[in-house]
Amino acid sequence: MNETFKAYVIDRETGEKVQTTGWRELHQSDLMEGDVTVRIRHTTMNYKDALAITGKSPVVRRFPLIPGIDFAGEVIDSEHPDFAVGDEVILNGWGVGETHMGGFAQIARVRGDWLLKRPEGLSGAECMAIGTAGYTAALCVNRLIELGVTPDSGTVLVTGASGGVGSFAVSLLAAQGFTVAASTGRTEEEAYLKRLGATEIVDRTEFSGKGRPLGKERFAAAVDSVGSSTLANVLSQITYGGTVAACGLAQGFDLPATVMPFILRGVTLAGVDSVMAQQPEREAAWALLAQHLDRRALAEITQEASLDEIEAIAPKLLDGQIRGRVLIMVP
Ligand code: NDP
Repeated sequence: MNETFKAYVIDRETGEKVQTTGWRELHQSDLMEGDVTVRIRHTTMNYKDALAITGKSPVVRRFPLIPGIDFAGEVIDSEHPDFAVGDEVILNGWGVGETHMGGFAQIARVRGDWLLKRPEGLSGAECMAIGTAGYTAALCVNRLIELGVTPDSGTVLVTGASGGVGSFAVSLLAAQGFTVAASTGRTEEEAYLKRLGATEIVDRTEFSGKGRPLGKERFAAAVDSVGSSTLANVLSQITYGGTVAACGLAQGFDLPATVMPFILRGVTLAGVDSVMAQQPEREAAWALLAQHLDRRALAEITQEASLDEIEAIAPKLLDGQIRGRVLIMVP
């Protein structure tokens, strides 16, 4: 089978620094090695995809490459024992859209070991509305719970709350009975964040500047997708024995903090990576989403777009003009 299909391709001449982008008609033989071929039905735009498309950050590390770190679809060919033609599958990360041909195309070929069967209780479209952002939020929430944070521990802060990861973290925490404070620069989104389950809105400028090594103990735990001074200030305001799950760098990748929260308050800083997370962690994250994600909240978070619109969406996402998630329909 060597069907042709439409794909968005990022390319770069050897020795050149500037990338070119555009739509191409490819053959299945243009795809990379893998033992499962998938007809993609849905994909989504993550922060990392926006960086790849705009070339703002060196996300793509092989040229030419189809970006898109997430996809959902149907198996059309398989040499992997766990997958058969017709199975519905999802993929998040594993270097797809970075070093392996990704999801902004009608067909993908990947290693079956990277795929999950579509989680029970969620449609393929819902899985992509959730995407890496929601799955990462679920990894963060599961990590807090594993490290002993319970609804009785106290308020959990979510930074970057109106972004993709943040919106899901607010919703998942609230659905499990946690009291959630949402930190945002978009205070006009107060009503939205409260509908997702936040009870307190904190202006993000409270965390964005240079802070003190230790501040007032305000939050039992936090999910941070912002990094930099925000993460440093959040750490300084965690109560004794509390935990922060850190997954992002929306403000910056630096961490201008001191060790004081760790050595005087026993605070734990737990790093969360979605790309190479192992299958059991992924399954637990998707199970949490299937069980606790409020479908009305998901619809509220999600806006639909067509595959043709990805180039227009990417700069807007980086510019903070996209609220929540973009589900991309693949023709
Ligand atoms: P979004 O762009 O949807 O959300 C990021 C949010 O961060 C914004 O909505 C904004 O929230 C806040 N923000 C943006 N710029 C700043 C700033 N300068 N200072 C403070 N806050 C800021 O992105 P995602 O939610 O998809 O991703 C968030 C981060 O998590 C990214 O850095 C991404 O790379 C990372 N990530 C990491 C993963 C991992 O595996 N570790 C997986 C997925 C994402 P508000 O408007 O509410 O203030």
